[in-house]
Amino acid sequence: LVVLKNVNKHFGALHVLQDIDLTIARGEVVVVIGPSGSGKSTLCRTINRLETTDSGEITIDGKPLPQEGKELARLRADVGMVFQSFNLFSHKTVLENVTLGQVKVRKAEKKKAEENARALLDRVGVGQQADKYPAQLSGGQQQRVAIARALAMDPKVMLFDEPTSALDPEMINEVLEVMQQLARDGMTMIVVTHEMGFARSAANRVVFMADGRIVEEAAPDQFFSNPRSDRAKDFLSKIL
Ligand code: ATP
Ligand code: MG
Repeated sequence: LVVLKNVNKHFGALHVLQDIDLTIARGEVVVVIGPSGSGKSTLCRTINRLETTDSGEITIDGKPLPQEGKELARLRADVGMVFQSFNLFSHKTVLENVTLGQVKVRKAEKKKAEENARALLDRVGVGQQADKYPAQLSGGQQQRVAIARALAMDPKVMLFDEPTSALDPEMINEVLEVMQQLARDGMTMIVVTHEMGFARSAANRVVFMADGRIVEEAAPDQFFSNPRSDRAKDFLSKIL
């Protein structure tokens, strides 16, 4: 569903993504881990073209992702993204946050969009908060609204970049549970996270990055019990 072929990106002299080859099948959940600065966020951001690439090709559901233009807006809507900082529209209500994109980008009728938004808010457990503003919600609730907002676009794949890193510990699980459920429902997901419990239980595959390269890819059991590369062994010894 998502294919990256020989993708390279530089920030000035820094070669932040080096010959990235990655194929993600429909319904697959891939957890990306690696040291700080290894290029995990940049990888996510190139997949929905928040960042351009210098070379290589990215295709979503068989369609090449263009660098810019109208076609890009349409394809980008197929890629939902959830960030560490929830990035909700602060002067819009929760319901409006989840309705807006459907009307503007997907050209949905307002009433239909609101119905869909309410259903999604129920699904992530914040249906009661629909008429509040983001600042009136806890971090965990805001992040679940952000997930509902991304789902409202009916994406083919969801990207999560450290979705629980900004949360107080007691709110982490409520967000991970929503993500677990999404994975069980068959959503294709790319998740950058330090939550190794989530990686073990939800991921089909772990991708380990270091210095802008994919150093190792394996099933979670195999990766955690028997990492092949020294970089991965070193990394795991620090976090486990
Ligand atoms: P972390 O675990 O800390 O989030 P990461 O693996 O997500 O790290 P990236 O954010 O992708 O890493 O950054 C990779 C490298 O690219 C870092 O060295 C970072 O400083 C650099 N970088 C990221 N964004 C930019 C930018 N817009 N301009 C210049 N350098 C950047
Ligand atoms: Mg990052």
